[in-house]
Amino acid sequence: MITVEGLAKQFGGFRAVDGATLTIEQGAITGLIGPNGAGKTTLFNVIAGVLEPTAGRVTMLGEDITGLPPHTLFHKGLLRTFQIAHEFSSMTVRENLMMVPGAQSGETLWNTWFHRGRIAQEESELLKKADEVLDFLTIDHLKDERAGNLSGGQKKLLELGRTMMVDAKIVFLDEVGAGVNRTLLNTIGDAIVRLNKERDYTFVVIEHDMDFIGRICDPVICMAEGKVLAEGTLDEIKANEQVIEAYLGTGLKNKDKVGA
Ligand code: ADP
Ligand code: MG
Repeated sequence: MITVEGLAKQFGGFRAVDGATLTIEQGAITGLIGPNGAGKTTLFNVIAGVLEPTAGRVTMLGEDITGLPPHTLFHKGLLRTFQIAHEFSSMTVRENLMMVPGAQSGETLWNTWFHRGRIAQEESELLKKADEVLDFLTIDHLKDERAGNLSGGQKKLLELGRTMMVDAKIVFLDEVGAGVNRTLLNTIGDAIVRLNKERDYTFVVIEHDMDFIGRICDPVICMAEGKVLAEGTLDEIKANEQVIEAYLGTGLKNKDKVGA
C-alpha cells in the first residue's frame, strides 16, 4: 500500500532518517519498533507530510505522494493521529468528533448562508456518526465529558475515533501505549484489530510495549539510526543479531524491551 524508498530527513548536519526503505502491506497491522532516537517519529512525519524529506520517495497505492501536505494526504485516507489540540480540550468528546475536518461541509461561509437546511441535515448525520464511533470504541459513556478531562488512554481512543469520522484507509499511530494503563491499552488494541478486520483499516503502530506489539502486529519492522534493520514476526525480530545489538547499544535497560 505504501512504499518508502531511500527516505532521508536531515536536521542540520544530522540524519534522523537515513535512507529508510520499507513496504507497508495493505490490510496489515505493521509494528514499528526501535530504540529511542531511531527515527521512527520522523519517518512517520515525513510519510504523513508533516516534514519535507531531504531525499527519497513515498508512494501510496502506486501514486507518488512524496512531500504532499497533510490535508491532501488526509483526503486520500492517509492519517497520522495527533494529540487533541489544546483549543479542543474544553469541548466535549462528541463535539471533538464532530469537528473533524472533512467530516462536514458546514464550515464555509457560503454553506452557512445558503444551505441552512442541508447543514442541519448534515449536523444530524454527523451526530449519528459520532455516536456510532463512540459506541464502536465503547466510550459512549464519555460523550459529554470535556476532552481535557480524559485519561491518557481515553484520549488515545478519541484520537482513534477522529480517524473514523472520515474514510481513513491507513492510519499511523505513534506510541499508542505511552502513559496508558493495561486495561485501556487492551481496549485500544481491540479497537485497532476490529477497525482492521471490520473496516479494512491498514495500520502502522509505533510502540515500546512488546507484549502489545506481539499481540496485534504482523509484520514488525525494526529501525535503528535512521535505517531499517530487520522485518519479520516479532519472534524473528527478537532473534535478529543486529536488532539485539541496536538495543544493547542504547543501554542495558532497553535490553528487556526486546526480550533479548
Ligand atoms: P524515535 O521516534 O525513533 O525515538 P525521532 O524520530 O523522534 O526518533 O528522532 C530521531 C533523531 O532525530 C533523534 O536523535 C532526535 O533528537 C532527532 N530529531 C528529531 N526531530 C528533530 C528536529 N526537529 N530537529 C533536530 N533533531 C531532531
Ligand atoms: Mg518517537
